Amino acid sequence: MNPLRPAILAAAGSERVKRLLTSSPAAAALVRRFVPGESRAELVAAVRELLASGRAVSVDFLGENTTDRSRADAAVAEYLALINDLAALDTSAVPRGAAPLEVSVKLSALGQALGSDGPAIATENLRVLCTKAAEAGVWVTVDAEDHTTTARTLAAIREVRPDFWWLGTVVQAYLYRSEDDCRELAEVGARVRLCKGAYREPDTVAYQPRAEVDRAYLRCLRVLMRGDARPLVASHDPGLLAAAADLVTQTARRPGEMEYQMLYGIRADEQLRLAGRGDFVRVYVPYGGQWYGYLMRRLAERPANLAFFLRAVAGR
Ligand SMILES: Cc1cc2nc3c(=O)[nH]c(=O)nc-3n(C[C@H](O)[C@H](O)[C@H](O)COP(=O)(O)OP(=O)(O)OC[C@H]3O[C@@H](n4cnc5c(N)ncnc54)[C@H](O)[C@@H]3O)c2cc1C
Repeated sequence: MNPLRPAILAAAGSERVKRLLTSSPAAAALVRRFVPGESRAELVAAVRELLASGRAVSVDFLGENTTDRSRADAAVAEYLALINDLAALDTSAVPRGAAPLEVSVKLSALGQALGSDGPAIATENLRVLCTKAAEAGVWVTVDAEDHTTTARTLAAIREVRPDFWWLGTVVQAYLYRSEDDCRELAEVGARVRLCKGAYREPDTVAYQPRAEVDRAYLRCLRVLMRGDARPLVASHDPGLLAAAADLVTQTARRPGEMEYQMLYGIRADEQLRLAGRGDFVRVYVPYGGQWYGYLMRRLAERPANLAFFLRAVAGR
């Protein structure tokens, strides 16, 4: 594991580091590599380009850990407007088999952390978004956050998904519980985005060494692929992508019955290569003013990104 990862994830809470990033032009350019803009107009321009290249999208309006009701309401309103804007875009270059347009939501942005009523508020807000999305032909996936929210998030999805079969769930391979979660989700034929996991978690709940996380990812992937799930392979890792391709062949899954998913700004060449050979590729595109926590998770994943970051801050 990157030895600096815990320190970078800890800096995700620092207002001072955030101020440094916003005041340096080089750092602002680094932010743009991972987050195409703060406004919906900037987001839509980036999405248009991705769709024209044959890649599907999942758009995340950035925000998390909302502790006041008005911000949760504002997030819902933004998502409703976003779904409208997305539905107007030309998606004809994206292969069929799955919806070309999707939004990704964090339940903590929809109110999950608002005291004892929080989970019910977030679940109701999720239902509102899914209803609007269904009318617009857009799909929804619920992001996975830190492990303290996992059980509540899965409970919300269990409640809403029967009315919206395409509602996606995210499983983080680093959690010990995830193989069992994959089994349960495969049984009901769920769309499951499998990622390694991006939060700083204790060894009481999550594998720590990279090799163990990779092995756990493969175990989860086999459960999803050999079962009835629609696996969404969310990784940039060449070894895991190759293993996924083998399992696709073994299980005779068609494009759209499984997806490759990658983050905006990461391995764009590989995204295009997979799309070019006919695979279904979805790019996760975040936008909005609350980009800081997201950016710090991306920096923590890769020492080379951290070097860019330090140069950008030092060069202000
Ligand atoms: C579509 C999508 C949705 C996600 N949703 C969630 C979620 O809901 N919850 C959650 O906890 N996590 C989520 N993640 C993040 C995920 O958990 C990992 O933290 C992240 O994808 C890095 O893991 P990796 O599998 O790419 O492998 P890694 O071992 O981290 O990376 C493999 C290779 O990919 C490239 N790479 C990876 N990360 C970067 C980077 N930041 N910058 C440049 N190159 C990089 C490098 O070449 C690296 O060697 C999501 C990831 C994707 C792709």
